[in-house]
Amino acid sequence: MKILIVGGVAGGASAAARLRRLDEKAEIIMFEKGEYISFANCGLPYFIGGDIKEKEKLTLQTPESFNARFNVDVRTMNEVVSVNPAQKSVSVLNRKTGEPYTEKYDKLILSPGAAPIVPNFEGSSGDRIFTLRNIPDTYKIKDFITNNHPKSAVVVGGGYIGIEMAENLHQAGLDVTIVELLDHVIGPIDFDMACDVHNHIESKGVHLYLEDGVKSIRHNANSLDVVLNSEVIHTDMLIMAVGVKPDTTLAKDAGLTVNGRGCIVVDEHMLTSDADIYAVGDAVEVTDFMTNAKGFIPLAGPANKQGRIAADNICGIDSKYKGTQGTAILKCFDMTVACTGLNERAAKIAGVDYEKSYTYSASHASYYPGAVNMSVKLVFEKKTGKVLGAQIVGFDGVDKRCDVIATAIRANMTIQDLTELELSYAPPYSSAKDPVNMAGYVAENILSGRTKIFHWHDVASIDPETSILLDIRTTYEFDNGFIQGSINIPLDSLRHHLKELDSKKTIYVICQVGLRGHVACQILRQNGFDCTNLSGGYRLYTSVFGKKKVKNYSDDINSHGSKKSDNAVNIAQSDKIDNKRVDLHAGKTELGKTVDNTKKEGIFNEETQNFTVNRISVDATGLQCPGPIMSLSKALKEANVHDIIEISTTDPAFASDAEAFCRRTGNTFISLVSSKGISTATIEKGKKEAVDIVEASECRNKASQVVPEYNNKNIIVFSGDLDKAIASFIIANASAAMGRKVSMFFTFWGLNILRKPEKINVKKDIISKMFGMMMPRGSKKLTLSKMNMGGMGAKMIRMVMKNKNVDSLEQLILASIDNGVELVACTMSMDVMGIKEEELIEGIKLGGAAAMLANAEESDMSLFI
Ligand code: FAD
Repeated sequence: MKILIVGGVAGGASAAARLRRLDEKAEIIMFEKGEYISFANCGLPYFIGGDIKEKEKLTLQTPESFNARFNVDVRTMNEVVSVNPAQKSVSVLNRKTGEPYTEKYDKLILSPGAAPIVPNFEGSSGDRIFTLRNIPDTYKIKDFITNNHPKSAVVVGGGYIGIEMAENLHQAGLDVTIVELLDHVIGPIDFDMACDVHNHIESKGVHLYLEDGVKSIRHNANSLDVVLNSEVIHTDMLIMAVGVKPDTTLAKDAGLTVNGRGCIVVDEHMLTSDADIYAVGDAVEVTDFMTNAKGFIPLAGPANKQGRIAADNICGIDSKYKGTQGTAILKCFDMTVACTGLNERAAKIAGVDYEKSYTYSASHASYYPGAVNMSVKLVFEKKTGKVLGAQIVGFDGVDKRCDVIATAIRANMTIQDLTELELSYAPPYSSAKDPVNMAGYVAENILSGRTKIFHWHDVASIDPETSILLDIRTTYEFDNGFIQGSINIPLDSLRHHLKELDSKKTIYVICQVGLRGHVACQILRQNGFDCTNLSGGYRLYTSVFGKKKVKNYSDDINSHGSKKSDNAVNIAQSDKIDNKRVDLHAGKTELGKTVDNTKKEGIFNEETQNFTVNRISVDATGLQCPGPIMSLSKALKEANVHDIIEISTTDPAFASDAEAFCRRTGNTFISLVSSKGISTATIEKGKKEAVDIVEASECRNKASQVVPEYNNKNIIVFSGDLDKAIASFIIANASAAMGRKVSMFFTFWGLNILRKPEKINVKKDIISKMFGMMMPRGSKKLTLSKMNMGGMGAKMIRMVMKNKNVDSLEQLILASIDNGVELVACTMSMDVMGIKEEELIEGIKLGGAAAMLANAEESDMSLFI
């Protein structure tokens, strides 16, 4: 049998290799119009960025090596220019010699791939405009960068290739701008999941224009002017990455059936409308695995599988291609974005009655170093619970979870099945409840009605006349940002404040990621309240509204059934959130070259007194308090007023520290994105208002000014003695009763006061275990500083207090929480003494020295007990 293959890369090479393995006698000829076969398309952007250094790494096989292994006649630079099905022959042009010739076949496989789309607007081609499909394209871009030293690049299109190119051009030292026509990058994921990606891209110093299109390109002598709908961007080069179209002129001219989009129509055996011609890869129409709809999903995995299936069928094996579910993954700088199955948009188009859940889970046990969180969005059928799709954005472990869910989708599993999956677990790899299990649990709670949920896009429709927006996060978290119109009752004191809530109103509960909100809803529901929990919590809400106002999006999403009320609390206009974000995203920054570790980009021009806004990233991950705050302080000292500092840390206390630090030092805390255990705080040096009215140099002085006095009380509890603990809490409660804001900072032995009385199973090293055993576990085990007499003294003092109607220490602690006293455990001491967060009583915040010092500065009394 003589088999001809058109196209020598993913689908073609895969078919050729399988054919040879199945039939040692067949005559196989593989035509490739380019110079290379079986090359790594997916690796091309990384050669441009420099991660892949050697050219040879891009070519997995040469014609010679492929021939040696598979005995396939590989003809590179040979283009099949026509197919004649009636004659069962193809016409070929040898591009090396210019010679045309004909080759007969028994079976023909077409795998010609897809070509980049080049839009037809004025100036859309030229020697500074590039597309990326193959190795010559790659060298062209690389050579241009090497020879012309461009400083800036515009990438048109925010799809997979666009994002990869943006990252790699940025890595190559260019100032990169992405222009995307839609409201979000990476089309296969939904807008709400893309918001984290937007923030991440911008945090790397790449500019992002969303919902903006290129109208034309003006060519200057050594640069381009890219005319957008909104403005004109001046750039040195441009990558066109607006998508691909099936490369199927050959098939059309041969009379094979193609669909309206130009994809070759094939059956499940990959057979075209001609009984002897198969087609595979990016050129063919695929069936969506979930909906059976016909589509175009150009990915390497399907192309390889289809090549194998075509070969099987040619050799008499009845293999079938059962559809594509669009499982894909993308590296976006250090972030990973993965998806599988249906997104919301696709579910809606397919007319599926679906629900969605958002979870935020650690990549592995949070107590084991290096755990980072991932956001998981699950789309599932309401009636059956069938898993329809998932999108995951995070860092470590995203690929594994996406693949588990992709497998579940293939097996037609439900969300209940996800809860039952027994997945591998040890602390460095996962948690006993893996993020996939967690997504299943949350989805199950939603479907079973145990938790009623509302979504970020429903918030605009909430009527304050009939509803209460209740934020149950700690006051500290609330102070750092909230949804306008919400009230704050921290979860741990909710039970004591139920009477203050109007039971005739529906309570819309808000927490950080949805987990504490679920607990609050159980408390409220069992006390007779109608309540519903914000899915994905305030974290998702801020991520979304960092970039887009709710009004527009809720218009889009109204088909989900949410009603818009004229009386709606217009949280979209929330000054707190939007203003912060507007600051962050406003204007374009002029960025320069990236250097390692502490990356500083751009300069301040002393002569013109003009600001070039620098974006400085500081990596403080792994540092314990006060390490991160010291790094921040150092970066601020070196920065110019208005510069943006992005500091990443894994210290859980940093969120509070940074906010307080900025408050006290006259800098502007813009936002904190805590994804996957790494908190990234964005801080602007100095105050915005100040810069508008004074000279830059004055601003610098202003940045170090201290703000006016306060009358808060600050108590540092160092001692773990019972009598001193009692005294501390009595003072704290008295101060709170006077309406003062009181903060108690527990450090070293004082931490023992906050320990839970029972033993908590947490992983500790031997020294920490020994410490834990030797130290008193909780307030009831404390001893007196004097006259303890083997514990007799402590018992006596407790008895005396009871007789004299003085609250016990335990009652005093509870009262202090009720009174709004802030109890802060020092993370540095916790670390030193081996005390874990789980071992502390509820309602304790974690904090560091900076938070304590900020409180001290705002206090007229600081006690060290
Ligand atoms: P191709 O692999 O494109 O091969 C088609 C070949 O046919 C071409 O070499 C072409 O020259 C040749 N040809 C066409 N017409 C003729 C003719 N008439 N005569 C002779 N030869 C002809 N997918 C993923 O899943 N993950 C990724 O990370 C990923 N990254 C990518 C990055 C880039 C930059 C690009 C361009 C693509 C990426 N893809 C990725 C997509 C993936 O490469 C394709 O889905 C896959 O290669 C399709 O295989 P194919 O065989 O259909 O076409």
